[in-house]
Parts: sequence; C-alpha cells; structure tokens
Amino acid sequence: HENPNTGWNFDNTYARLPEFFFTKQETKPVRSPMLIVLNDSLAAELGLNPEALRSEANVAVFAGNGLPPGAEPLAQAYAGHQFGYFTMLGDGRALLLGEQIAPRGDRFDIQLKGSGRTPYSRGGDGRAALGPMLREYIISEAMHALGIPTTRSLAVVTTGETVVREQGLRGAILTRVAASHVRVGTFQYAAQFGEPADVRTLADYVIQRHYPQLAELADIGESGRYLALLREATQRQAALIAKWQLVGFIHGVMNTDNMALSGETIDYGPCAFMDAYDPATVFSSIDRHGRYAYGNQPNIAVWNLSRFAESLLPLLHEEEDQAVKLAEEALHGFSWQFEAAWLQGMRSKLGLFSEQEEDAALVKDLLDLMHQHRADFTNTFLALTFDRLEEPPMAGTPEWSGWLTRWQARLAEQAESQEAARELMRRSNPAVIPRNHRVEEALEAAVERDDYGVMQRLLEALAQPFAHTPQQAEYAELPKACDRPYRTFC
Ligand code: AMP
Ligand code: MG
Ligand code: MG
Repeated sequence: HENPNTGWNFDNTYARLPEFFFTKQETKPVRSPMLIVLNDSLAAELGLNPEALRSEANVAVFAGNGLPPGAEPLAQAYAGHQFGYFTMLGDGRALLLGEQIAPRGDRFDIQLKGSGRTPYSRGGDGRAALGPMLREYIISEAMHALGIPTTRSLAVVTTGETVVREQGLRGAILTRVAASHVRVGTFQYAAQFGEPADVRTLADYVIQRHYPQLAELADIGESGRYLALLREATQRQAALIAKWQLVGFIHGVMNTDNMALSGETIDYGPCAFMDAYDPATVFSSIDRHGRYAYGNQPNIAVWNLSRFAESLLPLLHEEEDQAVKLAEEALHGFSWQFEAAWLQGMRSKLGLFSEQEEDAALVKDLLDLMHQHRADFTNTFLALTFDRLEEPPMAGTPEWSGWLTRWQARLAEQAESQEAARELMRRSNPAVIPRNHRVEEALEAAVERDDYGVMQRLLEALAQPFAHTPQQAEYAELPKACDRPYRTFC
C-alpha cells in the first residue's frame, strides 16, 4: 500500500521507445531492506516527501520490493568501448523504474543500482556492495555541491543479503537520479545492432529530452539538427571536463558507456580526487596504462565523442566523406571550448576578473611549480585564497616568490578591489573535497561498525564546499604518507 502523500509522479517515455532499446524486467525482491541514508533535499527538489519516503512501503521501493505507482521497470540496452575495446553491455545490475516529473516540470530518471540480474548481466550477479554504493552517494553529492553536472543519489538501502566478491560483503542498492541514462554507448548499440532508423529515433529522443531548443529550429533541416546535436553535446562535454579538471576530479573509467548525453558526470566507480598535482595521476587499479589519467581526460572525451559522431554519420549527410567532414568540424570545437572554459575557471581560482594575454602563462607556471614540488592541488589554491603564502611546499624558493610577484601585480592592475578578488577566489576554490582518506574512513565506519555518523559529518561538510567554515578546516588535512598511493577498485 503506497503512501499517497509520497509525491511519486511517474511517466515512462523511455519505455515508449521501440523494444530494441531495452528489456522489460520485474524487480527482484530482497530479504530485509533497511534504509541507510536518504537525501532529504534532493527528495524535496523531486517533489517527494522525505518523511513518507522513510515509510516501510517506500523503503521497499528503494529495494525493489515494491514499485512507485506508474513505474514500468526496464533494463536499458547499450554497448560501449571499455578501455578502447568495443563490447555489448547494458544494465547488468540496474533497472530504470521510470521518470519522476518534478514540481517545476523537469524529468528525472529514477534508477535502482544493484537491483539484481537482467538479460545484460553476462557473468555478473546483478548486485552491489554497501561500500561502493555509499561511495557513489558521497562523491556524486559532493560533485553536485561543487556545481558540477552529475547524476545524484536519493537513497541507499541494505538488502540483508550477502554479495560474494573476494569476500562476503553486505549487499546494498543505490537509488540514482539522472537527467537521463542515455550514453554514447546507447548510440553505439543502435548503430551497431540496429537500423539507421533506430539511431534517428534515439537522436530525436535525446534532442527532445536534453536539447529541446534544437527541435524548435525550423530552418536547419533534419541533418542540420543532428549536426547541431553533435556540436551541442561536444560543447557540454567540454564544459564538464573543464569543471572536473578545475577541482582535480579523476573519473577513472571514461568508457563510452560512462559518458552521458545529458552532459552529467555518470558512473562513480574508481573515481577519486587528486591530491598532489600531477597530470599523470591515476587511482584505478585496472587502469594500468594511464588511459584515464587526470591529464588525459580531455583527450579521452574527444575520443568518446568521436565514437558518438561515428554512430551519427548516416544522419549527417548522404555521402559518407561529407558526413565525416561535418563531424570532424564539430569535434574540433572541443579543444577551444575546453581551453576557454578551463582558463576562465583558472582565472577565477586566482581572483582574476578580466582576460589578459599573459594569463595562460601565469597559470601554466603555477601548475609547473606545483607539479615539481608535489603541491596539493586543492590546498595550494586555498593557501592563495587565504594569504597563507608560506604554506605550499615551494614556499621559500625564488621561483615561488617570482610567481607571487607576477600574480600580485596582475591582481593590482585590475579594476576590481582586492576584496572582490578574494571573494571570487572563495567562491572558486573549495574548502572541502571528498579526500580519499576521509571517504575511506566514513565507509569503514559505516560498513564495518554500522556507524553512519562519520559519513553524515562528511556529507555535511561536502554539502557547502565554498562556505569556508572553521569546522571545515579539518577536511583540508592531508593523508599520512603511509596511506599513499591510494588505489580504487571497481
Ligand atoms: P561499469 O564498469 O560500472 O560501467 O559497468 C560495466 C558493465 O558491467 C555494465 O554493463 C554493468 O551493468 C555491468 N556490471 C557491473 N557490475 C555488475 C554485476 N555485479 N552484475 C552484472 N553486471 C554488472
Ligand atoms: Mg557504466
Ligand atoms: Mg559502474
């Protein structure tokens, strides 16, 4: 019996696509669902009542033991390149329940992750462990608070069942909320296993859902519209990756199935935040060749977008060489859009309002110094923001003094006051990022000791990264040397 006051307001446009795109799939009940964490503010944004969500009937929904009214659960089909190799994938451990229409009319996918086997599970058990689901909850919510487009996390429940990995782990299910789950890999699936008409259907769906302004352009014609889709999707990825780089976020597994057409960050597996600045930083244990290293993320985004472009080629022009030419032109937009967004973000991190020719060199020289001295990325910018210029490891060197002199001269030249510059820096340099050792500490308390207080405190600090409160100072502390190098696992 559903609580009528919960606020579920479901629609199912994805289920209306041809069956080729998904498999209808009942949810699989679990033994004893227990709510571990609920995102009250996200619930409110979705038009859901947090109190009602805590009721037994709705905790059952988060576990797959019940359904919201109007839900039509399905597993989405997709393919993708994983570490450069093409393969069939699909929701092997997730189900799309449907789309919640929020009070302002926005549409959000409600997906259960860890919900059991589907036709796309291959050898997997379709389940997830508590640690990784809480990790996705923490990091995706941190990304949102940092102002970075991302899927979000509504709830985590434990299932009362054990999942078997190297050892027995507590089973859990994450309720993920997304603008949609259409990926580059969804287009690859349509192009590889379907007809050109299927690619067109999917492209029209994505335009309707994520780029509706293109649907309204009457005078650009059909192929012009699909080319515009490629251009706009490229632009969103350029803006997204620039934001990642500006906070030191390393996604870790930028396979083409993990790049969403909405422009949101998706799939928090082996991701982590960089501490010491080094473009070669990799955390993921499976990324042996550094394909998804911090400094390589923009290149990989273009590589992934090229796979998207390939799947669109038949829609861009009747003649293939013409289609390729148009696609290449669109993809060329990435590098200057990325560079512009990144440099603009770096200027803000340094308190610079206007644009000067020498800014790129000023930023590059700072990053080179940070790299050389293994300076912490986040804390170096905090030191600059709060005038703690003796703090970074390069303090005391003539290079550092020289760089500071140039920066201060540049600040003094601009029309805006020093106070305004500091304020811009406070808004652009987070006091708190989900540092690996703090996330691990929260997960250990939760998973090993059923103590969720450590995580709750971390979530509170992460929710307002630009507040710079005294309580947040402890989160700037670096891990002990023995905790490095940090490794993440899928
Ligand atoms: P990911 O590395 O999270 O992007 O997942 C890659 C593919 O593996 C997707 O098709 C997932 O659905 C599938 N997958 C990951 N874990 C499992 C699991 N435990 N059971 C079944 N499929 C899984
Ligand atoms: Mg994935
Ligand atoms: Mg994953």
